[in-house]
Amino acid sequence: MPSPSRPPWRPVLQGALLGLGVVAAAALVASVVAPWEVAVGNLVLRSQRGVEHPFPAPADPQPIAASRRVPGAPDDGVRPVNVVLVIGDGMGVGQVSTASALLHGPAGGLVLETAPVTGLMTTYAGDILVTDSAASATAMATGFKAPKKALSVLADGRAPATLFEAARAAGMATGVVTTSGLVDATPAGFTVHAEKRDHHAEILGDMLASGSEVLIGGDWSAYPKALDDAELQDMLARIDRLGADAGYSVVRDLSGLDRAGPRVLALFPPRRSGGDAHGPPLTGLAAAAIDRLAAGDRGFVLLVESEVTDGAGHHNDVAEVVDAVAELDAAVASILAWAEPRGDTLVIVTADHDTGGLGIVDGAYDDAVAEVRWATDGHTAQWVPVFAFGPGAHRFGGVVDNTGIARIVGDLLGLEGFPSVAP
Ligand SMILES: [Zn+2]
Repeated sequence: MPSPSRPPWRPVLQGALLGLGVVAAAALVASVVAPWEVAVGNLVLRSQRGVEHPFPAPADPQPIAASRRVPGAPDDGVRPVNVVLVIGDGMGVGQVSTASALLHGPAGGLVLETAPVTGLMTTYAGDILVTDSAASATAMATGFKAPKKALSVLADGRAPATLFEAARAAGMATGVVTTSGLVDATPAGFTVHAEKRDHHAEILGDMLASGSEVLIGGDWSAYPKALDDAELQDMLARIDRLGADAGYSVVRDLSGLDRAGPRVLALFPPRRSGGDAHGPPLTGLAAAAIDRLAAGDRGFVLLVESEVTDGAGHHNDVAEVVDAVAELDAAVASILAWAEPRGDTLVIVTADHDTGGLGIVDGAYDDAVAEVRWATDGHTAQWVPVFAFGPGAHRFGGVVDNTGIARIVGDLLGLEGFPSVAP
């Protein structure tokens, strides 16, 4: 008679259960150590763990009683002489509100929050809901929607006039400042026309010939996206000569920028090797640009872009978002310190799109740690904020489209026949 031994299926079951246990334990450990994502066909499963960050928790939280400044701003009929457009690349409402709370606590305290007029902006591209910087720059620069990757060139190949071109035709000065590469999408969309944003050499050549008095941005000689671009690298190697031939003082640091003439081409190295952000803080760069553009006394349009806000979103790095928004906020404070006493300068602060879709999902005051989550490491279609100061600011309240930046600014400056696209 066979002895009552264990049934043969028991070791199999035990093995399977042990295996499942190991997998579950590994998943639990992994979800604590790092967020995870598993794709099964069309189904994507991802961990919902947030990232914890300290914030200034108040002992006795009070609501904000009223607008930080004047609620709304009436149209006093004054038209701006100068326009400064500050773009936080990728700086969605989530980035601004998260940075505000983590820096200043729940009641905030950014200079941006003192804007007399705030609005929300839609950013969709000509061919897709979630835009890139190129299509959004095109919309803000020309008043028309373009497909992704195009720089002030429409889907049918026509090139609408840019705000800069129309301003120059009216005798105004123009300039760009960016902590991204000078030839990257946002500054390029305002200064030139190119079918593709990666036509870097063509963009640089056209920028030098564009007539903009101020071109300040990153030198992409060591940037991963541009390393393989032999034509661009060749131009950068000869940039002192190319810049001088086009009438620019070519400089590579802040002291050079201080000494430069009225037409300046400044190309700064990356802040860290291979990084997105270039050059010194935005505040000094914006001041140098304004000094030159205002000297001619004929009115100007200046674009000031922060790249760090977009990079921080792509890296899903909350600390980087906080630093980036703080840097942009400081630059806005210095621009307003110059503009507000004059009373003739419209300052608009917005974004080309949101990057990351982040938000605070928890934040008890007793331990003063906020939990922050990201929706993606790419761009989103979320509306972005608009903060407006100075004459004409009232036009940017409510929900506007990104094409409205070009159209409203063109109207306020009285730029004839703008926006327009040649047949
Ligand atoms: Zn981006």
